[in-house]
Amino acid sequence: MSITGTQEILGTGVVAGYAFADAVWVRPRPELPQAGGVIAEELREAEYERFTAAAQEVADRLKRRAAGAEGDAAQVLEATAKMATDRGWLKQAKKNINSGHPADFAAVRATEKFVAMFEAAGGLMAERTTDLKDVRDRVIAELNGTPEPGLPQVDGTAVLLADDLAPADTATLDKDHIVALVTVLGGPTSHTAIIARQLDIPCVVAAGLELEELQAGTPLFVDGATGQIVVGADEAAAEAKVAEYRETSARIAQWRGPAQTKDGHRVQLLANVADGKAARTAAESQAEGIGLYRTEMSFLSASQEPTVEEQAAVYSEVFDAFPESKVVIRTLDAGSDKPISYATLEEEDNPALGVRGLRIARDNEELLARQLDAIAAAAQKRGADAQTWVMAPMVATAHEAQWFAGLCRERGLTAGAMVEVPAVALMAEKILPHLDFVSIGTNDLTQYTMAADRLSPHLAYLTDPWQPAVLRLIQRTCEVAREHNVPVGVCGEAAADPQLAAVLTGLGVNSLSAASSAVAAAGAQLSELTLEQCQEAARVACDAAGAVEGRTAVRELLANA
Ligand code: PEP
Ligand code: MG
Repeated sequence: MSITGTQEILGTGVVAGYAFADAVWVRPRPELPQAGGVIAEELREAEYERFTAAAQEVADRLKRRAAGAEGDAAQVLEATAKMATDRGWLKQAKKNINSGHPADFAAVRATEKFVAMFEAAGGLMAERTTDLKDVRDRVIAELNGTPEPGLPQVDGTAVLLADDLAPADTATLDKDHIVALVTVLGGPTSHTAIIARQLDIPCVVAAGLELEELQAGTPLFVDGATGQIVVGADEAAAEAKVAEYRETSARIAQWRGPAQTKDGHRVQLLANVADGKAARTAAESQAEGIGLYRTEMSFLSASQEPTVEEQAAVYSEVFDAFPESKVVIRTLDAGSDKPISYATLEEEDNPALGVRGLRIARDNEELLARQLDAIAAAAQKRGADAQTWVMAPMVATAHEAQWFAGLCRERGLTAGAMVEVPAVALMAEKILPHLDFVSIGTNDLTQYTMAADRLSPHLAYLTDPWQPAVLRLIQRTCEVAREHNVPVGVCGEAAADPQLAAVLTGLGVNSLSAASSAVAAAGAQLSELTLEQCQEAARVACDAAGAVEGRTAVRELLANA
């Protein structure tokens, strides 16, 4: 039974699950003051005292929150609290106030100076600029007597509403208090969606401007699968749905791999990782191995290309998390939304359609050769049963596939390609025979099939992997893969959606790779269905007129399975 109420808002559901709680808003950042007023000389000391009192209050509040938090979250809060009373920052603010600036503008100027310094230092220092700006905003709000920006303090449970969430806002999200996330903007691959998936919190993005009208304190029912937000829901019915969701979550937590359908059809469930830490987390999950190691994520802050030895050490850290299992490692997918200073062209008009992924190696084969040497060196140290598969991102032609496969095989590596450019699916008969395996990247395949920027907060309805056009390209790829006996996986966010996992299995995909937190839900879903039911779900999804229709029809089908 679906929940109805006095008002319904429809967004794009990105993490399934139900929640029922009062709304809270992430408070907006204050407008930054401009240069202007001058503080008279005799008032400057008092102005500086006002500044230090505000900074101290912000630090104390953050420390109190740190005391109530655990692990990484506590550390983030403590580090941010220290920044608020950092001697260098206070000294700089004092200097600004002594030259006549009001306290709030002094905070802006002092922050600008440190941001410039941190950015020049690069690496981890550069990453701290977001936290420093966060402190600045909190101090300015305190000075102005406006509510503290960012995440509010939640004592009970709440549905968190925001325009879109910044990384700093999400660092300290606590699942015990925040039971769902809903954003006005954002898309299925936005930062909010990725964090929600990691934490496994029901999440709806792109709910639109209607959401902005909702007042804090309004009780909301959220359905993270359909993207429905209901105001004025019947309390008993909503609570019953949430209880049902909790039972399902508990069942999922009990699921143990390896994955198979009810009638014994095996599907490998693997994890997507970005570095050694994520790989070790994945090793704790039910994932059988790694289906996508995004190597570019290990080098986002590197200012120059790491040596072959340095790279091999980084790759070994990931391999070591799965000593005897399959690890699919992807060569650099630099460019577009993942710029890497040593491997990205500057100033392209359309970077998503530009020199990214394998295309970088066309004019710089040595860069690719060195990476493959490093992968081969790290792979050699693995156990005899361990499989190391290497794939290239953004392959578009048979010639590229053949060329890449040749470079891998020269080094004794198993060679594959991502299917994320629609041309590869359309030309699969010519391309797949060159390869040992393929892996479908549904994030980019959807972006390029639907001609919709995957980062656009306005196009979530198009960048939805349930789009039948995308599923039909996957269907085609699977048919050709079967004819040529080439294993086919899916490693985009689609694999994180349990019902889509059933559809993809029905289409003939052999392995699914997603955030390790999503693995058990997909495994549990598959264990409840026969292969034939998955095939029926695939037919229904491919025949649907659109993404919403497909998702709804499959949901009904599986509910009755
Ligand atoms: C994809 O495009 O689906 C994919 C897995 O690659 P990335 O998200 O890293 O572009
Ligand atoms: Mg991609």
